[in-house]
Amino acid sequence: MNIQPLHSWITNSPAERLIIAGPCGAESEEQVLKTAQALSHIESIRLFRAGIWKPRTRPNSFEGVGEEGLIWLKKVQQQFGLKTTVEVANAQHTELALKHGVDVLWIGARTTGNPFSVQEIADVVKGVDIPVFIKNPIHADLQLWLGAIERLSNSGITKLAAIHRGFHYSGKTKYRNKPLWEIAIELKTLLPELPIICDPSHISGNRELIPQVAQKALDLGMNGLMIESHINPAVALSDAQQQLTPLALKELLGNLVYRQTTSQNPECSDKLSQFRSMIDEVDDELMNVLKKRMAIIEQIGQYKKEQDLTIFQLERWQEILRSRLQWAEKLGIPRGYAEKICQLLHEESIRIQTEMMNKK
Ligand code: PEP
Ligand code: MN
Repeated sequence: MNIQPLHSWITNSPAERLIIAGPCGAESEEQVLKTAQALSHIESIRLFRAGIWKPRTRPNSFEGVGEEGLIWLKKVQQQFGLKTTVEVANAQHTELALKHGVDVLWIGARTTGNPFSVQEIADVVKGVDIPVFIKNPIHADLQLWLGAIERLSNSGITKLAAIHRGFHYSGKTKYRNKPLWEIAIELKTLLPELPIICDPSHISGNRELIPQVAQKALDLGMNGLMIESHINPAVALSDAQQQLTPLALKELLGNLVYRQTTSQNPECSDKLSQFRSMIDEVDDELMNVLKKRMAIIEQIGQYKKEQDLTIFQLERWQEILRSRLQWAEKLGIPRGYAEKICQLLHEESIRIQTEMMNKK
């Protein structure tokens, strides 16, 4: 995939994280300009965001001001020298955003989940040199996220980035949208050149959680942050709970620790490679132990087959879990971690034995 690094078109250096800020929605010319003016004093902000068309769960809530808002965004560019970004959800939004000179488009979570809409957008931007950011779909489906990125790439868009805004989660969670960092990491592994930006506002759903989510994103090497900021969050027409005043945002950005991905200091690199070779050795041992375990399981499988015994033996499994968790506890290994590993080992054991049982 042909993807241009952020520093080739928006940030000043490879180490700089792209900071995007602005209100959830553009509500009035005054609100947009006042917010933008205040944000323009925060040096690290490179992009001003505002939703013009708001995807809402129920009708009759604030659905955005539409095309008129694009004229306010033009003023933001002219008066404060900030680049702008809006969410587009269909071909018509995209045409209007292009017509009014928006600098960057973003595709929202609900739209990413709909390949028809993504393709519509991709068709409109074909042959246009416009950056596009793609939020993860609502549900934890990496293929759907990848598919949307591919559709834009196939249209010739090279200024691409993904935005991790958390995922719908039906269990108990303190987040509005649960951050599934492992999915973002998997995306990075598949497309190493694709920048990934984190949206702590939509992950958190409230102001209190934003700093820790933002810090975690930076610590994991995410390439930027998109944070909602409103001149007066208390009267915001959407996402009031999670928007920060420009002043609070400035403080938050100032308190974050921006760690480097690599160190220039030779002593530090030396130390790191020492640790890494220790880990390499331990992992090598681990693989050998796993291989040994597999070999024994094959023998058990063969024996059970000969003796006409079932593969799954509930009591044995309960005993394995009980004893291993006890051993783990003694060693100070967290219970959840030990449990996951036992589950994995057991699943693989069942798989191997089933294969043997089915073998003629
Ligand atoms: C937004 O950015 O305001 C928005 C609607 O986000 P998402 O698509 O992540 O829900
Ligand atoms: Mn929002």
